[in-house]
Amino acid sequence: MMEYPEKWLENMRSQFPQEYADFAQALEQPACAGLRINPLREYAVGDALNKYAKEAVPWYDRWGRYVRDGKPGADIAHFAGAYYMQEPSAMAAVAALNPRAGELVLDLCAAPGGKSGQIAAAIGLQGVLVANEVDAGRARMLAGNLERLGIPNASVVCAMPEVLAKKWPETFDAVLCDAPCAGEGMFRRDPMAREEWNERTPEGCAVRQRPILEAAIAMLKSGGRLLYSTCTFNVHENEENVEWLLQSHPEMRAEEFTLPGVGKSKDGCIRLWPHKLEGEGHFAALLVKEEKAHYAKKERQEQRKGSNRSDPDASLHFIRLQEHIKCNFGRFYGWNPETFQDRLFLVPAKMPDTNRIYCIRRGLPIARIGRSHMDPEHSLAMALLPDEIDRKFALTEKQTEVWMRGEMLSAELSGASGWVWMHRAGLPLGWGKYSDGQIKNRLPKGLWKRV
Ligand code: SAM
Repeated sequence: MMEYPEKWLENMRSQFPQEYADFAQALEQPACAGLRINPLREYAVGDALNKYAKEAVPWYDRWGRYVRDGKPGADIAHFAGAYYMQEPSAMAAVAALNPRAGELVLDLCAAPGGKSGQIAAAIGLQGVLVANEVDAGRARMLAGNLERLGIPNASVVCAMPEVLAKKWPETFDAVLCDAPCAGEGMFRRDPMAREEWNERTPEGCAVRQRPILEAAIAMLKSGGRLLYSTCTFNVHENEENVEWLLQSHPEMRAEEFTLPGVGKSKDGCIRLWPHKLEGEGHFAALLVKEEKAHYAKKERQEQRKGSNRSDPDASLHFIRLQEHIKCNFGRFYGWNPETFQDRLFLVPAKMPDTNRIYCIRRGLPIARIGRSHMDPEHSLAMALLPDEIDRKFALTEKQTEVWMRGEMLSAELSGASGWVWMHRAGLPLGWGKYSDGQIKNRLPKGLWKRV
């Protein structure tokens, strides 16, 4: 028997007395696990899926799978971003938001990045994602996950939502607000979440969520969609906060939607319960901004004034990089090279200005530039597809183990010394630098491990 907070069980019993017995029984079952296939690696994910996961998650059936066996998180295919481990019911929030190809989307509370990856998959290369996380350590983890998945069209920023709202009024087609919450839906798999909960937690979280929602609304364009989600079960953080939002923001209205395997929303809200489906539990509400802007024109002018300027040095570096590593950047046609300190980025034209915001990455980091050298970034290796780079090396299983320990390899390659894209069966494993019969390992040290 798992130990749950008494007061919480009591709250749940009074919230739905008729269903409580089923709910309590579900709490004694093992937690569900899932993974989300990365569409950018669809060409190479087959073997891993056959090993670990076949059944589709009904509300996200194109890419979501239940995991029944094994440890997919320890597989080299996971390291190479073929998939992301994600709890199945958590996949419902982005399914409900339904980001469309080409949209500009903000993920306001984004770390560790499960839902950001989902948004990137939906908007495609024509779309742009801004992923924000207030905690700097978690923001770096978020950037690492987007890098592993090879997502090029995303920036990662680290700021309070209120600060972003001043910077980007009426900017985004869609905003996901997956708010920090009491985490009651994590209780089955996370003892810490159970220990941290006390009877004041739900109301405390509900109050904390409101300014985040205010900021989210401010950043939505007219007609834009807000998806508010939590992984908690109490009404204070869920329906009551949606009610508060609708009352305090007449420009917002609830939008009904249906999720396969879950059902129809009610007043724009949907619940995933562990006793009704296979998942740990989630809440999602879809809201649309109807009214025209109520922001001062001045603010928008300010925003334009601060936007990033064209960067001639960056263009020269970009040309040099293409010669240096013989890489085909055709997929990123129309994106702008930009420099920041010693780093070169490739940035989608639609990316909002990030001046004066702590920005961990802006678009795709592609190179580090020194006085006499230029090193391609690990993020670039992870974002490239096999046919976009001439010089590559296919690692065997044995060589992959050596490579992942950060060691160099002996090999005879034709042609001159230089950068080599390392891969295992088409899945990227970083850069090597070849000279004199050896490939030096340029995998970032923090990623070395045994697999
Ligand atoms: N969406 C993420 C995913 O799918 O991987 C999970 C997000 S988690 C539920 C909520 C995040 O909100 C945490 O990373 C937390 O650090 C962040 N957070 C905490 N306080 C915040 C605040 N005041 N404003 C915005 N985000 C906050």
